Amino acid sequence: MKEKLHHITVIGAGTLGTQIALWSSTFGYRVCLYDINQRSFQRSMEYISVAVEQAGRKTRLSLEDWKNEAKKVAFFVEMDKALRDADLVIEAVFEDLALKRNVFAEIDMLAPSHAILATNSSSIPISRIESATGRAELCMNIHFYSLVHGQNMADLMGGAKTTAGVMETVKAWVRSVGCIPLTVKKESLGFCFNRIWRAVKREALHMWAEGVVDFRDVDRGWMTAYGTPWGPFGIMDRIGLDVVYDIEMMYYNESKDPKDFPPHALREKIKKNEIGIKTNRGFYEYPHPEYRNPEFLR
Ligand code: NAD
Repeated sequence: MKEKLHHITVIGAGTLGTQIALWSSTFGYRVCLYDINQRSFQRSMEYISVAVEQAGRKTRLSLEDWKNEAKKVAFFVEMDKALRDADLVIEAVFEDLALKRNVFAEIDMLAPSHAILATNSSSIPISRIESATGRAELCMNIHFYSLVHGQNMADLMGGAKTTAGVMETVKAWVRSVGCIPLTVKKESLGFCFNRIWRAVKREALHMWAEGVVDFRDVDRGWMTAYGTPWGPFGIMDRIGLDVVYDIEMMYYNESKDPKDFPPHALREKIKKNEIGIKTNRGFYEYPHPEYRNPEFLR
């Protein structure tokens, strides 16, 4: 392992992978981005354009900045080329354990032996993935939040064998890209802040699906209490309801507790392709969601 990381490779050019790649590039790192789908990078840039426009407050990077960084990042559809010089690899493919294990096994074969391998998974502890590689001591969770929305923090969690040195190196790197590291001291499903968000999200989804409240009132309450430009349902639209569903299923598969099973009504929305900003319709309609209207909080 190198103590100072220079070259970052992100695997998966979706919503988060693209943000992590471009964000790291603004701090002077050499960044490669890989996806099996040639169109993913462009699609994610379109998402970033809408998200910046929708932000409703000044974001650290303007749309111009995001676009400039996109020119500096090297995008590949061949994994070996993307991984050739990597010091740190961050995987951000779909939230699926079997897929992530396969991807980690491939990365392990192709990345330099000193490279640290991290997953950006929202719910899967690295201890479930690390055995797909021959370098468990260099594997960990780095869970970024949506950088385009200014959420500059990351949960950090080691696995069964992650060394203290790897944790410290990554903590320093996370700080070097202007993010606040939130370190988890022992394995916890959901990590640090994400576990708190998960409790809010599960409660909000069930209250909506059971017809207890109008989802807008949950968001009104949240926005008023915490002074944020959107509430939990607005946030879920940004994450993507398909991603939210997969994450909730991960938790359910873990606990088998019926209270953790995502509501049927959420599945119905996904079937109708109402998955949030990505399809212009989720809980709200985009590009002009109701919560941007000053009347929303009256
Ligand atoms: P996404 O659906 O936007 O993108 C996933 C990308 O992975 C797609 O571009 C897809 O083509 C690519 N992919 C699939 N299989 C691949 C493979 N074998 N090799 C390379 N690329 C492959 O997903 P996302 O929202 O960016 O989420 C990615 C990960 O980040 C998930 O684990 C998710 O839990 C986590 N995450 C998401 C958010 C969020 O706000 N969306 C926040 C934090 C963490």
